[in-house]
Amino acid sequence: MTIGVSDEHKLMSNGDIDVTVSEVGPRDGLQSVKRTMPTALKIRWITALAEAGLREIEVGSFVPPKLLPQMADAEDVVRAAVKIPNLNVIALVPNLKGAERALASGVHTITMPVSASREHSMANIRMTPEQAVEQVRQVRQLCDRQPAGKRPRLDVGLSTAFGCSIQGDVPEDFVFELARKVVDGGADSVGLSDTAGYANPAQVKRIFKRLRSEIGSKAGAAHFHNTRGQGLANLVAALEAGVTTFDASQAGLGGCPYAPGATGNIVTEDLVFMLESMGLRTGVDLERLLAARSLILEGLPGEPLYGYLQEVGLPKGFRYANA
Ligand code: ZN
Repeated sequence: MTIGVSDEHKLMSNGDIDVTVSEVGPRDGLQSVKRTMPTALKIRWITALAEAGLREIEVGSFVPPKLLPQMADAEDVVRAAVKIPNLNVIALVPNLKGAERALASGVHTITMPVSASREHSMANIRMTPEQAVEQVRQVRQLCDRQPAGKRPRLDVGLSTAFGCSIQGDVPEDFVFELARKVVDGGADSVGLSDTAGYANPAQVKRIFKRLRSEIGSKAGAAHFHNTRGQGLANLVAALEAGVTTFDASQAGLGGCPYAPGATGNIVTEDLVFMLESMGLRTGVDLERLLAARSLILEGLPGEPLYGYLQEVGLPKGFRYANA
């Protein structure tokens, strides 16, 4: 099966996987949990996820520690994670100050959020989307001043690209206008995030197709939340539009503050199972992945964990895509 798998992506991923599952639990998941997972446990969990075959992990966020104490140890986590072989270590960075901390820790990839909703942007980071794009430009310049071999990749995710819980509708034309500005500002890729779980599959397919026609090979990852149960359906729509990198979090960590019982991000375990069943290689070993869930509970006893695969196991006769 070759749904949406570009030759270009195969080159970037050494040719042995079709889809990159980018684990965001240690950042998106843990920042949604009020308690703080001890640093040593975070590192053990990230190591277990990498050993299960995940090749990209967003390990933390360089936001001011007083805003998100759960992420105060981002430097230590990044420094440990970059020693894990074959792992692209990603950290979220909101501004230039965060980028300086991220660079000092040796991160491989910086990901910056730029909100496509004016109201969300003001409420969240007290910047207009245009000011956030200016931050991207400044971070690019900072990265370019680093010595060769120490320049991280710079990805941008356009948050609330499919709708916003403050503003409601987000005009599609504005999403693409921003995407073009972000590329001009020097981003290596621009992905789209359904921050509030507003997206539907028809919209996802339309918007990701247009993203590709607007910014070509700089079109980046899809980041879906399962707030309204549309996560995997939206993901298949994005696959059909040519997207090959998807964010997900183990056990749907963090849940959804507005919908008790609902996961936050798409559950990594269920996603890997779906992709492998569809014949798309992820490089992930499901048994090792499922086993890594126990480290979340060791670090955050009693935390609710989500996902279907854990409950029922693999179906009889299941085969990995490369089998
Ligand atoms: Zn998110």
